[in-house]
Amino acid sequence: QGHTAPLPNHRQNRALEESAPATSFDGTLPPFANEPDTDPSLPANQAWARDAINRSAEPGWLDAQAVPATLAEGDVDALVATAREAAVEWAARPAAQRAALLYKTADILARKRGHLVSIAAAEAGKSVAQSDPEISEAIDFARYYAHQALELGDVKNATFTPDRVVVVTPPWNFPIAIPAGGTFAALAVGAAVIHKPAAPTPHCSMAVLEALWEAGVPREVCHGVFPDEGPAGKKLISHPDVDRVILTGASDTAALFQSWSPDLKINAETSGKNALIITPSADRDLAIADLAHSAFGHAGQKCSAASLGILVGSVYDSERFRRQLVDAAKSMVVDWPTNLSATVGPLTELPSDKLTRALTTLEPGETWLLKPRQLDDTGRLWSPGIKDGVAPGSFFHLTECFGPVLGLMRADTLDDAISLQNATDFGLTAGLHSLETREVRTWLDRVQAGNVYVNRGITGAIVRRQSFGGWKRSSVGLGSKAGGPNYLMLLGSWADALDST
Ligand code: GLU
Repeated sequence: QGHTAPLPNHRQNRALEESAPATSFDGTLPPFANEPDTDPSLPANQAWARDAINRSAEPGWLDAQAVPATLAEGDVDALVATAREAAVEWAARPAAQRAALLYKTADILARKRGHLVSIAAAEAGKSVAQSDPEISEAIDFARYYAHQALELGDVKNATFTPDRVVVVTPPWNFPIAIPAGGTFAALAVGAAVIHKPAAPTPHCSMAVLEALWEAGVPREVCHGVFPDEGPAGKKLISHPDVDRVILTGASDTAALFQSWSPDLKINAETSGKNALIITPSADRDLAIADLAHSAFGHAGQKCSAASLGILVGSVYDSERFRRQLVDAAKSMVVDWPTNLSATVGPLTELPSDKLTRALTTLEPGETWLLKPRQLDDTGRLWSPGIKDGVAPGSFFHLTECFGPVLGLMRADTLDDAISLQNATDFGLTAGLHSLETREVRTWLDRVQAGNVYVNRGITGAIVRRQSFGGWKRSSVGLGSKAGGPNYLMLLGSWADALDST
């Protein structure tokens, strides 16, 4: 059917979408559908992407874009009080009204796709290939949570009291989709949001907030602030009138927040050390492509990235497998976003100590199958590295390094492979490549991770289809996953059903 139905205009030419008038909204939400990514094979879209990237590379372009106001410690009380006050009116609106504003926001984000691509490239070093799907994801979050708000609206008055003030602290690796997700979810239930961007990506956060304001979400219920380096951030996170913090980031950050405020209600998705198991029954060509893509896409700067390949028996022992894996890694184009063919971009920040160790040091037993190289003097552009012989219990087996390094481990059996996969403290994503139903069943019974993928890559969760969240140390206070049916129910308190009987 895809061959005969005409593509909607915006998929044929994103530039047209930017100049299209806003869609009018009659108050009835259309059924939820995932927003399609841009088709890069179409010449009009290539020209659109080239324009967006060139614009962002002009000197001074990024500095001319808006950033959230700086927040000083002395301003925190007043800010929280304003948000708390504004939440009363916001929560009293019918859920349908908040949902309508989120749908409008989604349309605005869709029309600003090129602008968002420019900001993500200039600020985070994201290639179009990596930022385009996260813009689709941000749009999906707006529409999906709008629908969820309507569903929750039906039960709300009886048993559910939404949070009043939620602080959203997103990461810099998905600097559009994740800020959007947390903020839209909290607004959907009727909370006011104080949005504190990740330090490297305030412009990306601001672009999301501007879409909300343009749609008509009152500024008093949705604040963007950039705490100064001093104690303002701590005061905000631990403020007694803040009901909840939504964090996506390192597990150490969650622990820090909790140390500031032991009773803090926090919903956090925190870190991963994710492995893809490949058994001898797998389609090896497919497995290699999925492993390389999951390990090195966005230079491995994804909580979901594959940083371990656990190869069972003859897969590990196959010279051909290794050669093909190295070829796959070498075929990825490592460059800055101005090269539209780049699939592995720069690191957003200089490597951390952990990543430097992973990029430059071999632990006992390890050898380089492919040695990473620093490609320019910025220190941020690295070619993919593959370590062979990662030992059970070693630094690289257990530590999230967040960069373009993949480690290979050997397992004699699938059972051993699962034990290695589960041995880390984290449990965010996990994958299995196997064409044996029995193996798939065994794995699904035993794997300890929030997002499990069979015979595909382990990054790129899609709203509603693969709601996203972890187990073990990959999650703090989360009982349900982002982009899934129960997420909004976390953002408030429930009357005990037994009390009313
Ligand atoms: N949701 C993203 C994915 O599935 C990962 C988000 C993250 O890195 O925190 O790839």
